[in-house]
Amino acid sequence: MADALLQVTERGLYCAAGDFYIDPWQPVTRAVITHAHADHARPGSKRYLTSPTGAAMLRLRVDSYARIVAQPFGESLHVNGVRVSLHPAGHLLGSAQVRVEHQGEVWVVSGDYKTEVDATCEPFELVPCHTFITESTFGLPIYRWRPQSEIFTDINQWWQQNQAQGRTSILFAYALGKAQRVLAGVDATLGPILIHGAVHRFVHAYRNAGIVQPTTLYADSDAARRYRGEALVIAPPSAAGSSGWLRKFGPTSLAFASGWMRIRGARRRRAVDRGFVLSDHADWDGLLTTIRATGAERIGVTHGYTSTLVRYLVEQSMDAFVMLTRYEGETSGDAIDNEDAAQDASGITGDETMADNAMISDASASSFGHDEE
Ligand SMILES: [Zn+2]
Ligand SMILES: [Zn+2]
Repeated sequence: MADALLQVTERGLYCAAGDFYIDPWQPVTRAVITHAHADHARPGSKRYLTSPTGAAMLRLRVDSYARIVAQPFGESLHVNGVRVSLHPAGHLLGSAQVRVEHQGEVWVVSGDYKTEVDATCEPFELVPCHTFITESTFGLPIYRWRPQSEIFTDINQWWQQNQAQGRTSILFAYALGKAQRVLAGVDATLGPILIHGAVHRFVHAYRNAGIVQPTTLYADSDAARRYRGEALVIAPPSAAGSSGWLRKFGPTSLAFASGWMRIRGARRRRAVDRGFVLSDHADWDGLLTTIRATGAERIGVTHGYTSTLVRYLVEQSMDAFVMLTRYEGETSGDAIDNEDAAQDASGITGDETMADNAMISDASASSFGHDEE
């Protein structure tokens, strides 16, 4: 493995031939970023390469002086002689798989991915390769998702039942990705939709990218009071711990939308009334189907149920191995959202601009691959 095209180092997944990292967990010179969830996109690096739609979200995560290079999906860039291209991962808006090619050898890093088509992001693209590095967040046979249309029907019914009982519907969903997917999927004619500030800034970025989201209101005290008993409120999971924030909505029903809701105990631990099994990750079948379809001879497995998935693949006579990374899967939601909640305290309203876009350059004009300052 010493001459492997990609290897796990102290700073992250490293390509020695091209001298760049993919989703590094420590600051580096060149970071290729699969998507803007906090465990994959960490601040401190000098230069970032990511998809154009992912760039706006990444800008919200990293230092303002960092250079972000937007690389269109499917286009190749040569980084110190290594060919790098990004391909949609279907996980959230702008999420990418990273294809790395050197001397005829092709590796693909999935980042997080799902194969079910989702109205709020680019559809997953299958990329043939010799070595496929897959996530395994839900890599257990118990994780099998129902079609999202059925889940949205359940959410709509729950909202209507709550209205009939004079309860405000509070739905906890990760602020980036899940919240926007829920917004696009619910029936907005049922009543007003309020959103927490942590969710708002990402909804704003999605709208700027042309993703259709229903009309939303900022969930301040006035709106909360006015729409008690009728509204659907989308908030990050961390808001569940804030009884003061919840009180302003009057009587409530609490729900959580996550793949983890497949497990009854997870619902109890979250202290919510309802769990909606809606995940932005591939389920067990989705993982296995994708792994086989890539035609890869070797499978590296990152964050999640790594050992279970590796054991299963090895039993199927595949060459599979665990890659120890510091990505956290959906469990990282709390850490992400606590950070977002802090932003909420500062009172985000609807008037941010995307002026930061000026800091994002396109790949053709970039020096991502060169060493000059
Ligand atoms: Zn993710
Ligand atoms: Zn992940």
